[in-house]
Amino acid sequence: MDKQYRKTIIAGNWKMNLLASGVKDYADDLLTMIPNSSSWCEAVVCVPFVIIPAALSAFGNSHVSVGAQNMSQHESGAFTGEVSALQLNDLGAKYVILGHSERREVFGETDDIINKKVQTALQQGLSPIVCVGESLLQREIGITDELVSYQVKSALYEIDAKDFEKVTIAYEPIWAIGTGMTATPEDAQKTCAVIRNVVGSLYGADMARATSILYGGSMNDKNANELLAQVDIDGGLIGGASLKADTFAAIIDAAKQ
Ligand code: PEP
Repeated sequence: MDKQYRKTIIAGNWKMNLLASGVKDYADDLLTMIPNSSSWCEAVVCVPFVIIPAALSAFGNSHVSVGAQNMSQHESGAFTGEVSALQLNDLGAKYVILGHSERREVFGETDDIINKKVQTALQQGLSPIVCVGESLLQREIGITDELVSYQVKSALYEIDAKDFEKVTIAYEPIWAIGTGMTATPEDAQKTCAVIRNVVGSLYGADMARATSILYGGSMNDKNANELLAQVDIDGGLIGGASLKADTFAAIIDAAKQ
């Protein structure tokens, strides 16, 4: 089975939740519940910028990685309030979520901006988790495959194969995020397979086989097993259910299959 060629990644997206003062307890609880998870997956917590130092210190040299949820497309300079890829890398963050639908919808990030962010993240040694996904209307009018293919291609514009090795793609149908309306395993699988085909058309079959594609959208400890069993789903990007160490640990456990 092709899954053996790629890394399983379970990444939590805390969004604008939790506090630096609570990270130590969260990390202690999580590490107690999943002491050996590095043997079947990479567990990641993507936390608010201000919590990154506390998260790095709480997870220490453990097998849980720390990531950010966004960054500037610019390298440095007069961009008040922004955080650069270099600053994230300097802190010790490994991953960065880019193109999350909340960034696209609430903060007006375009495909062009997202592509620039992917380029900057890679230049500064971060591993981007690039989010794509359709709205309910786009799904209903039947353009999910085209839309998602376009989003993947534009996010990866001018990214060469060597750099692409550090990229993870997350399929996140917008209508499923934070709504409790999970995509069926079959639907999620179908779109992840479309994404893998796009990767193949850009970088070749070997790279497509080696690329980790995650599903995100109301994944929880009840539905993770079935979603993660799909042949083209290599992990999850988890919002709400990552806020408590025990439900996040249960999802990490479900990836052991
Ligand atoms: C997300 O924020 O990427 C996400 C998938 O959220 P939730 O799991 O809460 O739907």
